[in-house]
Amino acid sequence: MSQIVELKRKPRKAKCPICARPPLAALAPFCSKRCKDEDLRRWLDGGYRIPTDEGPDGPEAPDVP
Ligand SMILES: [Zn+2]
Repeated sequence: MSQIVELKRKPRKAKCPICARPPLAALAPFCSKRCKDEDLRRWLDGGYRIPTDEGPDGPEAPDVP
């Protein structure tokens, strides 16, 4: 008795990460330029921060003689 595992997996249903609509091939995975821009904006907003120097409480104290 052999169990045949279904290997035929349907391709992942791609969805626009912004609005979950089917994406446009040209703009995949986004459905529109607007969503693409929105995603970029979100990414920039949340993840991209200009790194400053060490925090205010750095491990090294430059004041020490
Ligand atoms: Zn979209």
